[in-house]
Amino acid sequence: MIHAENLRFAYPRSEFELRIDDLLVEAGEKVAVVGPSGSGKTTLLNLISGISVPDEGRITVMDQPVGTLGDAARRRFRVSSIGAIFQRFELVDYLSVRDNILLPCWINRALPLDADVRQRASELAEQTGIGDKLHRRVTRLSQGEQQRVAICRALLTRPALILADEPTGNLDPVNKQIILDLLFQHCAENDLTLVAVTHDSNIVDGFDRIIDFAEFRAGSSL
Ligand code: ADP
Ligand code: MG
Repeated sequence: MIHAENLRFAYPRSEFELRIDDLLVEAGEKVAVVGPSGSGKTTLLNLISGISVPDEGRITVMDQPVGTLGDAARRRFRVSSIGAIFQRFELVDYLSVRDNILLPCWINRALPLDADVRQRASELAEQTGIGDKLHRRVTRLSQGEQQRVAICRALLTRPALILADEPTGNLDPVNKQIILDLLFQHCAENDLTLVAVTHDSNIVDGFDRIIDFAEFRAGSSL
């Protein structure tokens, strides 16, 4: 599903360099990425989703060489194949909860905006406890509610790969468990691969594998 080799990435004018010699995530695996703040967890997700491109090395996601595709192809790949839950949610402020959940269909013309997908958006909202807020603008939601909108949006099209950046970071313990159970349930039902970043060591139960960034700052095999 994901294979990175000899990956190097640095931000301009920054000391930080992400080095990953070998990373392999199999299809259907549920991987938790843990590590201190600033260790490069979000950077890794950006490289997997093609938001960033590596300076050196290769990264293949679902047989696509995301590191070397052009901008438009990377964007198409991301929208059609990956469900991303961003650390800062990246919701569209002037849209309702429902339209934010349906955003993948607005962006990607290949995804039909039909009665089925609208029904699925409502079901996901119901399952995550925001079913009564579908018509509200997302700016009028709490952080935890916004996070749940982001999760519904990522699951809408049943993408084969879910990338989740601190997906429970703004949730209380009860909602945290509900959201995790929902993510795992969707993975099991649809045979999804999940890569979830967390700094919360309490939520790593249920993952198949833990990648600890503290261990490979200097570069190593995962
Ligand atoms: P984490 O998600 O593990 O907290 P990040 O991947 O966000 O870490 O960041 C890794 C390092 O890269 C940090 O030192 C951070 O300050 C730096 N960094 C992140 N984004 C940028 C950016 N856009 N420009 C320059 N430096 C950045
Ligand atoms: Mg981060």
